[in-house]
Amino acid sequence: MSPLSDLPSVERLLQTEDVGELVRKHGRPLTVDAIRLTLDEYRSELKAEPDRKVPETPAILKRTESHLSEWERPSLEPVINATGVILHTNLGRAPLSKATVAAMERAALGYSNLEFDLGTGKRGSRLVHVQSLLQKLLNVEAAVVVNNNASAVLLALSALAPRKRVVIARSQLVEIGGGFRVPDVMRLSGAKLVEVGTTNKVRLADYQQALAEGESAAMWVHRSNFKIIGFTEEPALHDLALTAHGLACNLIDDLGSGALLDTTKYGLAHEPTVQESLEAGSDIVCFSGDKLLGGPQAGIIAGKELLIQKITRHPLARAVRADKITLAGLAATLLHYLRDEAEQQIPIWQMISMPLENVRRRAEAWARELGTGSVQESQSTVGGGSLPGETMRTYVLALEAGNADRFLKRLRQQSLPIVARTENERVLLDPRTVLPDQEAALLQGIEAAMPRA
Ligand SMILES: *Cc1c(COP(=O)(O)O)cnc(C)c1O
Repeated sequence: MSPLSDLPSVERLLQTEDVGELVRKHGRPLTVDAIRLTLDEYRSELKAEPDRKVPETPAILKRTESHLSEWERPSLEPVINATGVILHTNLGRAPLSKATVAAMERAALGYSNLEFDLGTGKRGSRLVHVQSLLQKLLNVEAAVVVNNNASAVLLALSALAPRKRVVIARSQLVEIGGGFRVPDVMRLSGAKLVEVGTTNKVRLADYQQALAEGESAAMWVHRSNFKIIGFTEEPALHDLALTAHGLACNLIDDLGSGALLDTTKYGLAHEPTVQESLEAGSDIVCFSGDKLLGGPQAGIIAGKELLIQKITRHPLARAVRADKITLAGLAATLLHYLRDEAEQQIPIWQMISMPLENVRRRAEAWARELGTGSVQESQSTVGGGSLPGETMRTYVLALEAGNADRFLKRLRQQSLPIVARTENERVLLDPRTVLPDQEAALLQGIEAAMPRA
């Protein structure tokens, strides 16, 4: 008789006590699927090797359970960022402050006054919750929050410049990571792209001439992830604003990173801030919530009230609006700035402002704890489409552990995966981007990933 017929049926297995346990834990449909898959696997294995013993029920259930946990393991899981890249786009950009997460949880768990005016008992606007904070913080007339900065730019252009000429410098027609190409977004919005200047140089007169040719708007884009050096020229934003306003044109600034604090304070190059852009005369500024702002993924459009009204009335505004969880989180993050506690409370600013001495002490403590590795000077970067080419001094733990790529891979396979980088066959771990409450897991993971001597 074929050994296949000795395999228990799904029905029979479902009657056993242990399967009852699996059903309670994982639900019946998923458990049945897992049993089926397991039995199918055994059937093909027994066909391929007819001399093999038919598995006992406990072995079948063990394999069933491992399928179940594999299926249920979240695909999106936390990792430890030991790369030293603070706004690592592949690793989810900005980690959030405790207060931000608490606010998001409060908004998520229950009902809220999202679009309900508690004073009048009538319908309210979801825009008000974050707008008043942005008005205070930026001294701006109005603001609206959307899904991300890519949609902020698309929406702003769609609402303000359909069929209008939008004048932009060739040196600012950039592609941001993930295929966001400024010229494509401009075309998609219905704006007529008018390029001025050359790759390296653009003058006020170039803008002036193009803006005067017909109903136009001026667009300024932060180059974000690259630098032009050498023989270059660009007018000051303030002068472009004056020129645009002189011709009754609006100036739209896509700032990208959305810094609210001055990065030069931390030994970095100057990243244009939202406040500076508004002071320079931008009518509309667009920036990200999860870059240098350090909050949840969002796009913020701030500027003149009349223009923001136009933007919020555009049909696309409904399509890209921010959800209640984002709005709650963003409000909590903005509050840190208003309270002048961003450096203490917002994780990316804690990382940027972390004294070099502290970084070194942490790396040394890791080396001591592990009993191996050496501490060496290296560079952290801010990342996330800000401060291109800029690095910050740091200290890293350097580990030599056979083949560096294989060691990196084992680090990624830990239950809390560790992402690091290599240099000269050594694995480097930068304390700057490792969250303090992940340190114990980091050391455990490194120990588990070390090749046995
Ligand atoms: C990052 C960036 C964007 C896209 O922002 P997201 O929030 O990632 O959608 C757009 N423009 C500039 C200049 C950027 O730096």
